[in-house]
Amino acid sequence: MVDLATLYTLIIGTLLVSAGLTLWEGFGRFRRAPLRIWAVGWTTLALGCGIAVARTLLPGTSGWAISNMVIVSGYLLVLNGVAALDRRHYVRTSLLLVAALALGWVLEDTGWRVAFWHYAAGVPIVVASALTAFELRRNRVLLGLRSRPVAIGLSAMHAALYTARVLLLPLLVARYGGDTLALASKITMYEGVLYSVAMPMTLVTLVREEAQRDLLAVSRTDFLTGLSNRQGFFEDGARLLRVAGTGHATTLLAFDLDHFKAINDQHGHAAGDQVLRSFAQVIRDVAGSGALLARLGGEEFAALLPITDRTAAKIAGEAIIARLAGMTDHGDGVLVRATVSIGLAQHGADGDDLDAMLFAADRALYVAKALGRNRLIAASPLFDGAGSEAPARARTNTRLVA
Ligand code: GH3
Ligand code: MG
Ligand code: MG
Repeated sequence: MVDLATLYTLIIGTLLVSAGLTLWEGFGRFRRAPLRIWAVGWTTLALGCGIAVARTLLPGTSGWAISNMVIVSGYLLVLNGVAALDRRHYVRTSLLLVAALALGWVLEDTGWRVAFWHYAAGVPIVVASALTAFELRRNRVLLGLRSRPVAIGLSAMHAALYTARVLLLPLLVARYGGDTLALASKITMYEGVLYSVAMPMTLVTLVREEAQRDLLAVSRTDFLTGLSNRQGFFEDGARLLRVAGTGHATTLLAFDLDHFKAINDQHGHAAGDQVLRSFAQVIRDVAGSGALLARLGGEEFAALLPITDRTAAKIAGEAIIARLAGMTDHGDGVLVRATVSIGLAQHGADGDDLDAMLFAADRALYVAKALGRNRLIAASPLFDGAGSEAPARARTNTRLVA
């Protein structure tokens, strides 16, 4: 029992509130351009609705033409804001769609006038909303964000409603008379009220989710090397060990670059940083994509490898040692010889959780340092290849360190 004017008043209000909310978000640190474009878009839609209410006051069809052109411009701004999330734009398409509406003026006083404004004028809204859904769907950056499917759904539903208006309404009006048109307008406007709240809120939420995701990634990443940092390593590592299950001999390698202080002292801190970067690349190359790699701090790194075979794990570690020892050029003109010592621990044999494994690997690492560096020592004795265990565990860690 709501009249059209009330619905228009409501929709203008909700659009302006949405514009304010979006603009406020646009003063923040993230996605300023898309947010500001959306804020202008929602304001433009509110303005278009305002003109639509007063369109009978304007001469001829100009009220219809202007309000429709402004409303469609609003939708197109929303589309361009969404496209801007992926550095794209729809400027030419937008100009074409608005220009198409200007055709309505030419139809002044012809029999096509009513058909054009009541039905065909919905086509640009269908196109803009469908393209908005399409842009959100093809955007790879937003992949995995919870609000993305919601935003796609809202745009697609909006496009579907206006498609029905364009295609079905003429048939319904022909059959059931002019009252159908008034009812359809109310339904369209009511949906508009819901859309003008849901869509802006979803887009703002989308931007916030993206920022949150990126900040979380930064908080778990080592800035210098791009590997995980300590926090990321312990979070992801615990998860990997849970997935692997007890008994699976996932391998942990603990690395400490040898005499790194001397490298800094002789070649400068910047050269030291470059060696850290190039070492990160060495472990990336050798460990492959299934490994969790981290810089735990300073010149200390760790790798959790999905290697169940002890000998294979040792071979991987020794490949890293050989690769680094054979390098003289670390890039950016840094010519240094660097070596690394490694402690190896295995899930199950040396501990059931990451803390225990890291503790065991660290003790083995101390042994490697004590034995002269540039080598790998396992926390527990490794199979020697002939099928027999190497001498007892005591051979490795505590006693030698002491
Ligand atoms: P060892 O073979 O016994 O491990 O000797 P080391 O010199 O590597 O060990 P030490 O712990 O004495 O020195 C570690 C050095 O690593 C000291 C510190 O200046 C340097 N370092 C720590 N973080 C960074 C960094 O981010 N960049 C650079 N360039 N150096 C760093
Ligand atoms: Mg150290
Ligand atoms: Mg060191």
